[in-house]
Amino acid sequence: MSDAETLFERIIAREIPAEVVYETERVLAFRDINPQAKTHVLVVPKVRYRNVAELAAADAGLLGEVIGAAEKVAELEGIVESGYRVVFNTESDAGQTVFHVHAHVLGGEQLGFFGRYGG
Ligand code: AMP
Repeated sequence: MSDAETLFERIIAREIPAEVVYETERVLAFRDINPQAKTHVLVVPKVRYRNVAELAAADAGLLGEVIGAAEKVAELEGIVESGYRVVFNTESDAGQTVFHVHAHVLGGEQLGFFGRYGG
């Protein structure tokens, strides 16, 4: 984990505005600024780990809280029955741009397939 502060730490500190949809002592969920589906919410642990593998290794309980919060967001957004996708992008081939682990919660409409770029 590098020491460089990420954008999400500034959102957690309320230095940058975000539309928060759910919060616990250790987790924050807010709407993605560039939504890729009708519902697109990011769930982040308030303590920074670079990616989901680092979070899992360091604090599996906190990873469980992130997943639990993603499920709670789906409930609040009314998409439990219709379905949703939870994605952790990890490093460059997956398109990770913010190196503070975050779950994308996507749903609210039929989602496309995913995988190879342009494929
Ligand atoms: P990733 O590409 O998996 O690292 O995801 C980073 C996500 O953060 C992208 O989906 C961005 O649209 C989103 N994002 C960037 N800046 C903000 C912001 N200020 N507020 C909310 N979401 C943001």
